[in-house]
Amino acid sequence: MAKPLFKQPINMLTGNEIKCAECGGNYIKTTGKVLFEVREVPIEIDNIEHHVCAKCGEMLFRGDVVSKLQRLANEKYKKRHGIMSSSRIRALRQKHGITQETFETIIGAGAKSVARWEKGTVIHSEVTDTFFKVLERFPEAMYWLLGDQK
Ligand SMILES: [Zn+2]
Repeated sequence: MAKPLFKQPINMLTGNEIKCAECGGNYIKTTGKVLFEVREVPIEIDNIEHHVCAKCGEMLFRGDVVSKLQRLANEKYKKRHGIMSSSRIRALRQKHGITQETFETIIGAGAKSVARWEKGTVIHSEVTDTFFKVLERFPEAMYWLLGDQK
């Protein structure tokens, strides 16, 4: 599970009226590189809007920015480790004209798993990745599964 490298969950920041919880310093709004941890690996993502404490460097992120950061970091992690991207999983499913729910049924995944993998909020396991690559390489296996389990 991905998690950000900052200490406090932040909802919305409206300006500089919030003081740093660590040192009482003022936050400055900025856009730049930040690190986001995916499976204990720090991933660098550029061009991310955030607030940084001018005094101690503590960072704050809006909730929607954290979601974006998580998706971008997950995709970067997958690319680096040879794990199928979200768009490649979606393409595999859509190529066979099946819904996310049907795909979950035939591969034995839990509800909403496919939606989360395709959105990029959750990274599928390496065993699942191998299975997806087999389905991609041998499409007849997909039809066999569809026929067998419907
Ligand atoms: Zn501070």
